[in-house]
Amino acid sequence: MEENISLKELHTFGLNVQTAQYTLVETEAQVQKLLPLPAAHLILGGGSNMLFTKDFEGLVVHNKIRGIELVEEDEKTVLIRVGGGEVWHLLVVWCIEQGYAGLENLSLIPGSVGAAPIQNIGAYGVELKDVFDRLEAINLSTGKVETLNFEACAFGYRDSIFKRKAKGKYLITRVFLRLSKEATFNISYGAIQQVLEASQTPLSIRSISNAVIKIRTQKLPDPKKIGNSGSFFKNPIVENTVVALLQKKYPSMPVYPIGNDKSKLAAGWLIDQLGWKGYRKGDAGVHEQQALVLVNYGNAKGSEIWALAQEIQASVQEKFGILLEPEVNILA
Ligand SMILES: Cc1cc2nc3c(=O)[nH]c(=O)nc-3n(C[C@H](O)[C@H](O)[C@H](O)COP(=O)(O)OP(=O)(O)OC[C@H]3O[C@@H](n4cnc5c(N)ncnc54)[C@H](O)[C@@H]3O)c2cc1C
Repeated sequence: MEENISLKELHTFGLNVQTAQYTLVETEAQVQKLLPLPAAHLILGGGSNMLFTKDFEGLVVHNKIRGIELVEEDEKTVLIRVGGGEVWHLLVVWCIEQGYAGLENLSLIPGSVGAAPIQNIGAYGVELKDVFDRLEAINLSTGKVETLNFEACAFGYRDSIFKRKAKGKYLITRVFLRLSKEATFNISYGAIQQVLEASQTPLSIRSISNAVIKIRTQKLPDPKKIGNSGSFFKNPIVENTVVALLQKKYPSMPVYPIGNDKSKLAAGWLIDQLGWKGYRKGDAGVHEQQALVLVNYGNAKGSEIWALAQEIQASVQEKFGILLEPEVNILA
């Protein structure tokens, strides 16, 4: 257990904040020894989906439980069990090297494997739930290791039980993923096709991964250079009756239908319409190319970034009547 540790290098917003207590765990037994955790505690993975609005006055438990094991194999698939402290992108790279398909579209998403189920990470037409089998997690009240299957996790768009009923209840220690030995490629996202065509590389899980890496590096700011947490807000899902009214006023508004009654709108488009892209107040700002990404240009305070996020939320609500929900976990 260490005291008064800086968190600047341990999260991607790069804020100058510290935690009262910090400890790193590499095994399930080490987690169990820490129980009961103090009321103020935070499980930390790669710190790529959190905004500290001030110093953390509790215990940060840094999950570094590692390991990748092959659990089952049949003609067509493999089942792997991965430590929650593994780095997500390194797992993707490992799978591509083994010839296991399923994760290539999720290349270069920052963070840890253990955090991936929390918001059911997704990108370029694929979500974690598409390859998810089950997970193991330590119940932080009982200390017992529980297995949660697909249904128990209640995955949704950037959502799961871990953001709702089970919020704060578990430390996810191992994630089981079912991957395919015979790749079925998902290149429905237009930009992937364009990059593949331009590079004239044959279709493979490796070429898809390379295309995704190329697109992401061009599109998204690198947290090592400019602090950020990726998309700050979720894309709102709204009733089609509301969409129809908005479309009358804003015919160019992008709309992605979901089933019969609802559609997803592009939060970045809504924010952009209000002229926020490239806005900067001190060192807190909205990225110049991505209206959905809030950034720390160097010495911003978390409270300043949160104040800016709330200003954006209020302006979108006033103009479009839509409340944007943060995707990033706000530590107030
Ligand atoms: C540049 C950039 C691009 C991004 N692009 C995408 C994208 O395309 N798609 C996408 O879905 N996300 C994206 N993200 C968000 C982020 O990468 C994911 O949410 C990722 O899963 C966070 O992992 P982490 O280990 O960094 O989590 P952290 O930020 O450390 O934690 C996030 C939350 O999960 C909890 N948590 C972490 N680990 C555990 C655990 N083992 N058990 C229980 N709770 C835990 C934390 O307490 C916290 O509430 C992006 C972020 C950045 C910075």
